[in-house]
Amino acid sequence: MSQPWKHPDRFVLRHVGPDADEIAEMLRSLRLSSLEELVDETVPASIRLARPLDLPAPLAESELAAQAHELSQRNEIFRSYLGMGYSDCVTPRVIQRNILENPGWYTQYTPYQAEIAQGRLEALLNYQTMVSDLTGLPIANASLLDEATAAAESMHMAHALQTGEEKDVFFASEACHPQTLDVLRTRAEAIGIKLVIGDHAKVDFASLGAFGALVQYPATDGALFDYRAFGEKVHAAGGLFVVAADILSLALLTPPGEFGADVAIGSTQRFGVPLGYGGPHAAYLATKNEFVRKLPGRIIGVAQDSRGKPALRMALQTREQHIRREKATSNICTAQALLAVIAGMYAVYHGPRGIRGIAEMVHTAANSLAGGLRALGVRLVNDAWFDTLHVRGSEADVKKWLAAAESRRINLRRIDAENIGISVDETTTPADVASLLGVFGGDGNAALKGAALASPIPAALQRTSPYLTHAIFNKYHSETEMLRYMRLLESRDLSLTHSMIPLGSCTMKLNATAEMMPITLPGFNRLHPFVPFTQSRGYQQIFDELESFLAEMTGFSAVSLQPNAGAQGEYAGLLAIRKYHESRGDAHRTVCIIPSSAHGTNPASAVMAGLEVVVVKCDEQGNINVADLEEKAQKHRDKLAALMVTYPSTHGVFEEQIKKICSVIHENGGQVYMDGANLNAQLGLCRPGDIGADVCHVNLHKTFCIPHGGGGPGMGPIAVAAHLAPFLPHYPTTVAKNERLSNEFGVGPVSAAPWGSASILIISWAYIKMMGGEGLTHATKVAILNANYIAERLGAHFPIVYRGARGRVAHECILDVRPFKKTAGIEVDDVAKRLMDYGFHAPTMSFPIAGTLMVEPTESESKAELDRFCDAMISIREEIRQIEEGRLSREDNPLKNAPHTADMVIANEWKHAYGRELGAFPAPSTRERKFWPPVGRLNNALGDRNLICTCPPLEDYE
Ligand SMILES: *Cc1c(COP(=O)(O)O)cnc(C)c1O
Repeated sequence: MSQPWKHPDRFVLRHVGPDADEIAEMLRSLRLSSLEELVDETVPASIRLARPLDLPAPLAESELAAQAHELSQRNEIFRSYLGMGYSDCVTPRVIQRNILENPGWYTQYTPYQAEIAQGRLEALLNYQTMVSDLTGLPIANASLLDEATAAAESMHMAHALQTGEEKDVFFASEACHPQTLDVLRTRAEAIGIKLVIGDHAKVDFASLGAFGALVQYPATDGALFDYRAFGEKVHAAGGLFVVAADILSLALLTPPGEFGADVAIGSTQRFGVPLGYGGPHAAYLATKNEFVRKLPGRIIGVAQDSRGKPALRMALQTREQHIRREKATSNICTAQALLAVIAGMYAVYHGPRGIRGIAEMVHTAANSLAGGLRALGVRLVNDAWFDTLHVRGSEADVKKWLAAAESRRINLRRIDAENIGISVDETTTPADVASLLGVFGGDGNAALKGAALASPIPAALQRTSPYLTHAIFNKYHSETEMLRYMRLLESRDLSLTHSMIPLGSCTMKLNATAEMMPITLPGFNRLHPFVPFTQSRGYQQIFDELESFLAEMTGFSAVSLQPNAGAQGEYAGLLAIRKYHESRGDAHRTVCIIPSSAHGTNPASAVMAGLEVVVVKCDEQGNINVADLEEKAQKHRDKLAALMVTYPSTHGVFEEQIKKICSVIHENGGQVYMDGANLNAQLGLCRPGDIGADVCHVNLHKTFCIPHGGGGPGMGPIAVAAHLAPFLPHYPTTVAKNERLSNEFGVGPVSAAPWGSASILIISWAYIKMMGGEGLTHATKVAILNANYIAERLGAHFPIVYRGARGRVAHECILDVRPFKKTAGIEVDDVAKRLMDYGFHAPTMSFPIAGTLMVEPTESESKAELDRFCDAMISIREEIRQIEEGRLSREDNPLKNAPHTADMVIANEWKHAYGRELGAFPAPSTRERKFWPPVGRLNNALGDRNLICTCPPLEDYE
């Protein structure tokens, strides 16, 4: 498309905060004359990329929109009745516009700073309550990545909960969704668990010696089994009983918690979350109280603030990888928070009667279809079902039916040559059922008028207990009320719509509207993940392009888009390394060296991949201690599998020795895994592949603009050198026929869907298309400039813990506030909470160094915003000085009492030794744009002691 003229508006100038004048000014303050000079002082010359990135020329926003639209139309939207854990549904428009398409919700971070995250914490608590009610189990998390990995997490959980003699067999019913079984196989094999797949009704469980069992409810082919007797056998053998359940079916069926399940897992996709060709969707895991400490993922709990008022926070964080590292309950970091919020809101909006009504409608559609099919003489295999029918015929019949379906633009599940599955959903209309009956040779409408069957759910499996009884699910059913409720919650949260969120290592950059808009196009979000390849040509082109862009930017030769978070990428990459070693007869290479400064997901993923973690020290400058590395690499040379290294380091510097580090590992037979979380400092300047790494993951929700969604979604594709390409994750062709992912040597699937959370790959693709190579390189340079500008301005007030060889930091810097503990009794928490009074989200606290703050501004923040943040930090330093000098009390000062809520400072009573004004309006900018924290400081210890993880009764708020 050649145009005679081009719009002058370039996207890169919108994405990058500082303009040319601001850049020049900031450079002057750093005594530099160009960005190039800054890069020379920051990135070691030995690793610099000598040529520009080879990416297509940048598109304008309007051009991108047109291309995205065109590609969305190259995906063909058939009516899909494929089921297998994915169902089309209706996203209530009021939720779509005000949450899914609203930056006030999608640009939030994981709610670590609870006081300014009460809105999403409440939304997530609603989600947990909904899951708990529907499954009949008291505790639920929020959330896991997908149903298959949730099943795998439950297997890990069951393994960890064993008492007495250790067993290593896990049983899974053959009636589970096939992709669930495949992900289980991958996970089990890596850590030496023997997975036995069989018929739950026939297996001799007692002699199996299994530590747990998983069944699907209803089964993947729709069959409805009563698992009570089986559950008793599992318990008699001392095992954990796990039930994968369809969340909507539980509105009509006896919930797992009432028939003996210890754990229930599943997807909440069909609660208003678009299919999106596989994701993102939130998976759930619910369990009994006694197992809560082994529960993976995030748990929201009810606690109290400094004044004893109810307030919410993330509970039991000491189970997580951040603290427990290789002893963590899981490697889950980024999960699916935004999707959990949406699913929870779907339950708030519909309420118990609405949810039951939808379940009944879906069930009735299945019963009408069943009646019509019986009338046509078609054989139904099962006697009872919820929404899925299993049809059997001769091979010739099946061929004929599938052909007839295709000609009507209908997708049916081909189970095998003689079996077909049909799953109906919330969007299925009587006309759809008539059309389906037409596929089987009848006059659809006539057949439909025939007999709808009565519900086949046996009395023993009919739900009698109530659910969603809490007031939250019973008062926001008009759109006006719903809109106001969502707005109320949004107003309690600080997001990128208020101010910069300078979280080091998290890369909270702009999530541009033009990048976000395509994901809700029907051509992208209504595609079932298992449609035939020919119906997803638009997506396939996006994958092709994105894979080639990522390969070019990382310097690698092949890419897998399957892992749906950075930590999943770590896991997939380490498995690929293990397979590679195995292929060379080196299966005994199982030692993984990890620097002490590494992110907690690194050791947690290594353990999941069956590796043994050896920690290597860091020196005073924050670099890997190369002598220690050489010693450890040599010591373990016969068993060395890999090094995991983050670059630039988690300390925010470009280590000069990185090439040497990589060669030490290679000389000792290991592979180098690069954690790509800090790729935002590398793009266009250097590449992991050139530096000497063999594989790296790319957190698309950091460097490539997928919004953080309050704790997810994200994507963590991995890029690998040619020798590892054969070992990238494959995907079973029995589930989704495709040429792309059928590599026979590859590690098994690591996600439920072939391309993980496919629909949000579009966001990163759009970003790269609009930025181009030059734009991305400019962004990297400005990200480094912004960090150095902050280091320059704040360096005089707070020690900068680490700098590179020539005094520069990379794209983030660590501020030391540890000395104030002695001089003023002030701790890092006090500074973080005081920042809220100034309208800012704290930087990353205590990672990678306890008691410090790590600031990452990103390229998207303008100089004005950087200055506002620096002014706030300097002002806080002055407040600390006043404490040091005795002008403010050591015990009663604005830092210790932060954050200050409106009701605190407006109350008639004010007992503090400083003024109200200083409490709430510490900086001039707070008078114009005040963000009021809705609650006072959280009492953390109390929240973990009395764990409450579902909505408390309203009286508790009074
Ligand atoms: C964010 C991060 C991870 C984990 O990535 P997720 O996408 O959250 O799973 C790993 N390592 C580092 C250094 C990170 O910053």
